[in-house]
Order: sequence, then C-alpha cells, then structure tokens
Amino acid sequence: MTGPTPDHLRTRADGGRAVEYPPLPEPLPVGVYDNHTHLEIADGALPLDVHEHLERAASVGVVGAVQVGTDVATSRWSAEVAEREPRLLAAVALHPNEAPRLEASGTLDEALAVIDELAARPRVRAIGETGLDFFRTGDDGRGAQFRAFEAHLDIAKRHGLALQIHDRDAHDEVVETLRRVGAPERTVFHCFSGGADLARLAADEGWYLSFAGNVTFKNAENLRAALRVAPRDRILVETDAPYLTPAPLRGRPNAPYLVPHTARFMAEALGTDLDDFCSQLASNTVRVYGSWQDEPVLPIHQQGTA
Ligand SMILES: [Zn+2]
Ligand SMILES: [Zn+2]
Repeated sequence: MTGPTPDHLRTRADGGRAVEYPPLPEPLPVGVYDNHTHLEIADGALPLDVHEHLERAASVGVVGAVQVGTDVATSRWSAEVAEREPRLLAAVALHPNEAPRLEASGTLDEALAVIDELAARPRVRAIGETGLDFFRTGDDGRGAQFRAFEAHLDIAKRHGLALQIHDRDAHDEVVETLRRVGAPERTVFHCFSGGADLARLAADEGWYLSFAGNVTFKNAENLRAALRVAPRDRILVETDAPYLTPAPLRGRPNAPYLVPHTARFMAEALGTDLDDFCSQLASNTVRVYGSWQDEPVLPIHQQGTA
C-alpha cells in the first residue's frame, strides 16, 4: 500500500491490460497539437506520466495538447496541470454520461458551479467535453444530459471559451440544441462521428471538426467522406487518448505522441502536402484555443506614453 490515490487518477474501464505503448512514429515536419486527450487515465503495462507523454509528443512534432476533464476531479486537475505545464491547455466539463449520475445524487448544480469557477482560470480555454450520448445513456438519463449540455453552452459563452462537444448517436439533438440555445463562437465536434451531411451542415455554421484515430479505421468511410467535404480551416486532429488508437496500432494504448499516424493518414486521404496540412492544423488549433505561450507582459518601463 502506498497511501491514498489522488482523486483525479483514472484507469481505463477495460484497464489492467498487459499491452505496451507503441514505438515513436516518424516526426511530423511542422508542429501540431493534440486538441483532446485524457492524460489522467492510466493504460498499458507501464503507464506514462504527464512529463513522459509530453516529451515523447514533442520529440515527434506534437508540440502541445488540450487536457480534457470529464467530472469535477479531473476538470480541477486539468486546470491545475495546465498551469504547471506550458505544453498543456485545459478543457473542463461534466461528461454527458456523468450528468445523469450527478442529477440522481442531487449534485449536478453544485458540480456545474465548480465548472463555472474553473472556467475563469487562465489556462482553461475550452468547456468540454459536454454534449449528448445516447449510446451509453438510456431515455431516463436524457433530461439530465440536455440540462447539463445547455448549462455548459451558457458557461462557454459567458467566459468567451471554445466548446468541445461529445456527440455519440445524437447528431440531430446536438445540432438542434446548438441552434436553439446558440453555439459559442468556436464550437468543436470532438471525435467527429458524422458523415458528409453533418460535415456540410457544420461547415455552414462555422463549426470545427476534430478527427481522432478512428478516421484511419477500415470501416470509417463515412468519416473520410466528412473529412473530404470539411473546409480546411475547420479541421482539427486529436487522440482522445488512451482510446481510439490509430491503425495500424489498434489495441495498443493511445497517446499524444501517436498523432503523426492520424495526421499523415488525413493528409494522404486529402491528397495534400504534409507540411501545408500540419501548418493548417496548427493555425486552426491556435485560432480555437489561443496560444499555448502565455501572453507576453511588457516590463513596466516599456509601458505608458510613447
Ligand atoms: Zn468524448
Ligand atoms: Zn474524450
């Protein structure tokens, strides 16, 4: 026994897997960002710590990541770790599958108030992941999901933050809610799971599509169709690590340092030059979340009258 485990640490639901992390891929020619990862979730035979994750990522051209919370403890940790680690920004929210549990225990409002507080922290640049998940939550949990999603939309808009949407088997209801309540200026479908029709609709609304490792899967022709119709300035890349490891590494743990597999695959699917594609991904990401570098503050003697 080594004492209590910190609150925020999680293990994959199918965890305890005696699998190794994959080797480092060939580095990307231009630095990109993983805009959605969960570094608090331990996976594999030898889990990596935050520093190891970011060192490996930097060594292959993945220069930063957005660390995403899914409940109060992981959101709080995400905000804190991003204040210590310049290669991380944070997103905070209650996952749509958490909302019904919180409502059942009478703590949903209290938890939303914590997210609202965390949203004011300087390295928190997005509210997410929030949205609707009709795959894991049945009819009885939908009321709580809608209520939480709408509250998160309000928090994002009041704080001027980006929004990261989790949409699983709920495309129509997610779009309807965004239109009815009003979407934040920078709205991202994390782990985009629609086809060309949803991609066109999102393009008309100015929303961003973030593609994860599943765009590389053999049966994911709908995702590749979406990628082909998405405007280039609305495309992002993510891992959703430790889940959704790209081909040909499926079954192994995922991590930000594996983004090059997905980015290369996407550039090839689009028939575009890898350098240009990576530059575009990087500028899209910074447009959505702001810079990873803290804003430079002028020394006192350089301020004032000119
Ligand atoms: Zn998600
Ligand atoms: Zn996620």
